Amino acid sequence: MVSERSQEALELYERLRREAESSGYYLNPDLELVLDLMEGLVTNLKRYGYMACPCRLASGVREKDLDIICPCDYRDADLEEYGACYCGLYVSEEVAQGRKKASPVPERRGTVLLKAEEEKPVFSGKGMPVWRCKVCGYLCARPSPPLKCPICKADKDRFERFA
Ligand code: SF4
Repeated sequence: MVSERSQEALELYERLRREAESSGYYLNPDLELVLDLMEGLVTNLKRYGYMACPCRLASGVREKDLDIICPCDYRDADLEEYGACYCGLYVSEEVAQGRKKASPVPERRGTVLLKAEEEKPVFSGKGMPVWRCKVCGYLCARPSPPLKCPICKADKDRFERFA
């Protein structure tokens, strides 16, 4: 049985669940944990005006916190490497289906962006690389391709470097 929750948290949960389902992402099957995180996100939305990650200390200045607005910049890399995001709100398909357990997720903040900076010359030397979904043509600029194409749901390995 789900413990009592605010209406805002329940509405946010429904929205994120729908968005996850339609874009190839998975919410943690632990509903209590997910609803706890919804309450944290709602609290941060009221406090700061944006949904700062509930497991991190936000500065309260949007520009400084851009990387930790949920879903944070680190979600996909953590899902791929550890099977869950830092908070555990999002999990990989294998974890969602109970085929694997998520590993503890170390804080990636402050390291990933540096790594991306270091990798720039390898990609193009001109900034963020652009990836193209070979199935539907969707384009996105990010350090690595998304786990699933948000349009056609093709897996990461169906992306090619476009620019
Ligand atoms: S760690 Fe998870 S819950 Fe926290 S901001 Fe990133 S995606 Fe959202």
